[in-house]
Amino acid sequence: MSTTLADLVAQLDAFRDATLAQLAVADSLDALEAVRASSVGRTRGALNDYKAQLPKLAGADKPTFGARFNAVKVELEAAIDARHAALSASAPAAAALDLSMPARRQWRGAKHPVTIVLEEIEGIFRDLGFTIATGPEAEHEWYNFGALNFPPDHPAMDMHDTLYLERGGLLRTHTSPVQIRTLQSYPPPIRIIAPGNVFRRDFFDASHAPMFAQIEGMAVDEGISFVDLKATLANFANRFFGETKTRFRPSFFPFTEPSAEMDVACRICNGAGCATCKQTGWVEILGCGMMHPAVLESAGVDSQKYSGWAFGMGPARMALQRFGIPDIRIQYDSDIAFLEQFAQ
Ligand SMILES: [Zn+2]
Repeated sequence: MSTTLADLVAQLDAFRDATLAQLAVADSLDALEAVRASSVGRTRGALNDYKAQLPKLAGADKPTFGARFNAVKVELEAAIDARHAALSASAPAAAALDLSMPARRQWRGAKHPVTIVLEEIEGIFRDLGFTIATGPEAEHEWYNFGALNFPPDHPAMDMHDTLYLERGGLLRTHTSPVQIRTLQSYPPPIRIIAPGNVFRRDFFDASHAPMFAQIEGMAVDEGISFVDLKATLANFANRFFGETKTRFRPSFFPFTEPSAEMDVACRICNGAGCATCKQTGWVEILGCGMMHPAVLESAGVDSQKYSGWAFGMGPARMALQRFGIPDIRIQYDSDIAFLEQFAQ
């Protein structure tokens, strides 16, 4: 089958017209690139197909078609370049590019100071052979109060302090129910550290929040004494705060006897006295004591054979001292400027 020069030139001209029409409506650099690739493109361009027809022409027609082919190719390439220039000039991103502008800030996530403190406390006690224990946030009244030797009329059980649920349930007011649940499940010797959220109906002031993290520790074995308690907690304070003075003051809790509160020298004023330490130079960081025999017995542990100690502390307060934060409420504000300071 022979191909005539007139046929081939007519097809080539039709292709040129179609391509110019596509260029006119190509409204982005991506669309223009697609037209370029499908027309004059080196590998996929349809123009190549016309060049492939050249050997089929009669010898005298070849130079005529060759010249026509080259003219169309040059015309299309020039039209594509012109369209590219027009689209580039009107692209808003290109027009707005200002190389002298400062780079955009990089945002980075950071652990909350309370999380940092919790993880550090857990790490220190894990080094001492303690394991992590957890329990439910919605508790039975018995685990939260009864098993922990609270008398039935104890003020902590008042509706003002406790968030009660239906059918004798409540939101735990401390992590101490984990002590009872652990003692019911595992025989001594036991050393646990129990982090978790607790709930109070306290009003919100500089040092109280309705929900806050607590971390609790317990050791139960034969022959455990107050000496072990004091040595363990003093060791902890030195590791957490760096070398620090500590003192124990007698206190009272229903679930420990004797009970004590441990203070560390105020880190904000170095013991000189400031608003955070109420000018005393000391800050209470935890409550502790020897476990009351009634608590061991209610969990099914023989209090004649075994003894134990327990302590509890608030990581949010620990964070105040650790990082020199003046007001506990800042930690609940989700203020990026505050939280960013803890990015590592
Ligand atoms: Zn102070």
